[in-house]
Amino acid sequence: MKLLTEEKCADTSVTLCRSCDLVIRKRALPSSVRALCPRCHTAIYDAPYCSLNGMLALCLTALIFFVPANLLPVIELHFLGSIRTTTIFEGAMAVANQGYWVVAIAVLTSAVIAPGLLLLSVLSQILIIKYRLEVPFFRDILKRLLKYHGLLSQLTMLEIYMISIFISVFQLRDYTDIHLEMGTFCFAMLFLVTLFLQREYHLEHMWSLLND
Ligand SMILES: [Zn+2]
Repeated sequence: MKLLTEEKCADTSVTLCRSCDLVIRKRALPSSVRALCPRCHTAIYDAPYCSLNGMLALCLTALIFFVPANLLPVIELHFLGSIRTTTIFEGAMAVANQGYWVVAIAVLTSAVIAPGLLLLSVLSQILIIKYRLEVPFFRDILKRLLKYHGLLSQLTMLEIYMISIFISVFQLRDYTDIHLEMGTFCFAMLFLVTLFLQREYHLEHMWSLLND
């Protein structure tokens, strides 16, 4: 823990202490350091735990798992000698064929489209900040991506699909043999890595990088 002093620094973004209303200039902090109010010692802000490189690694890992998680079967049923496998997309189509279009669209949006767009958006944001932040065209793209980030992360609900896989396994295990396949593993890994990525991602911090 370090005390934030009121030194002059290049960063012009200013914040208020939420206890004593002291105006404080924000500074870039090293990882796991918290800025304290010089007057009342209230914690003002933390440095995001993850560096850009850490987020880039998480993002690329998630994208690597994204493809097999959506192409490989997530569940395999062995019933009276017949074997049935299904992917997330086929599952959604099966629901749609029964007339539940809204459910199918909700599943596809929350388990496939939104997570994919979210990962691509975070990847583009990191790459722009790392390599192309000075170019006005890319700054504009970054601004748009940051604007829609909240919506995309709200639509990403991999956990719901994760829970539904568990429910079907528990409900069906008395009737059929269930084999969890490589697709299930990839989907679980995609879920975990995306969870960590969303934990490390700080929208305010990304905006502050744009404004620097
Ligand atoms: Zn204070």
